[in-house]
Amino acid sequence: MKAWIGLGANLGDARAALRAAVQAMAGLPGTQVQRASSLYRSAPVDAGGPDYLNAVAELETGLGPLELLHALQAMEQAAGRERPYRNAPRTLDLDLLLYDEQHIDGPELTVPHPRMLERAFVLLPLAELRPGWAALGQLQAVAAQRIERLADAAQWLGLTE
Ligand code: ADP
Ligand code: MG
Repeated sequence: MKAWIGLGANLGDARAALRAAVQAMAGLPGTQVQRASSLYRSAPVDAGGPDYLNAVAELETGLGPLELLHALQAMEQAAGRERPYRNAPRTLDLDLLLYDEQHIDGPELTVPHPRMLERAFVLLPLAELRPGWAALGQLQAVAAQRIERLADAAQWLGLTE
């Protein structure tokens, strides 16, 4: 199955945290990271704190959606994530955005991710990997959010200079 993961961090060395998360996803059982988006910097939404770094990764995985969610949560924990309050700054946030073409509405997991349409920092990187998933009007609806593209995937993953 294909899955798209939203990555974000705004504490510590955020770029290193996102890179390490991509490496860790590549190490999950039966899972390959097929592509990654460019790296973006975005203003926090509904929260204070430093700017975020964001990206989206595309996985091919044999893990089911809940297994994948739990693996992502374990990676957040390993990165030292604490949840003192809602939308608190975080060392690593990994959201399961899309899982194949499935719609899931469970107590732990909602897919597509319920807030992704409100977030430029999800829609713009995702549009690189799945152009056409969000409609033009949906991209226009988040156009006022401050976001800037910093580096292409090869650059931020350290594959080129
Ligand atoms: P957010 O990412 O919205 O800032 P959290 O990362 O703290 O918030 O996640 C809060 C809860 O959202 C988690 O406990 C998780 O069970 C739930 N959740 C529901 N759907 C998803 C999803 N698609 N991806 C990640 N978490 C999800
Ligand atoms: Mg999250």
